[in-house]
Amino acid sequence: MALYYYVNKQSGYNNNHVVHAAGCPHLPDIDNRLFLGSFYQANAAILQAKKYYAGALGCETCCPLNSAGAQASQLSMALKHSDVSR
Ligand SMILES: [Zn+2]
Repeated sequence: MALYYYVNKQSGYNNNHVVHAAGCPHLPDIDNRLFLGSFYQANAAILQAKKYYAGALGCETCCPLNSAGAQASQLSMALKHSDVSR
């Protein structure tokens, strides 16, 4: 099933712009997010977000990185660091 995806207009840790699916508890306010479209896979949404922000990456909560690689685990680490403001 396709989901609507958004990217945060505000950059976070390491200048990253986090991609979220509709319904994610971390979804930014409507003024702070950019609608990407509807996608079947989070990876496709992240690719779309990279057209706007080179530092786009998926939210750990709603865009789990299934295809684990060295790059994926680095991104995951960056997101954990960005969570300290809670
Ligand atoms: Zn999210």
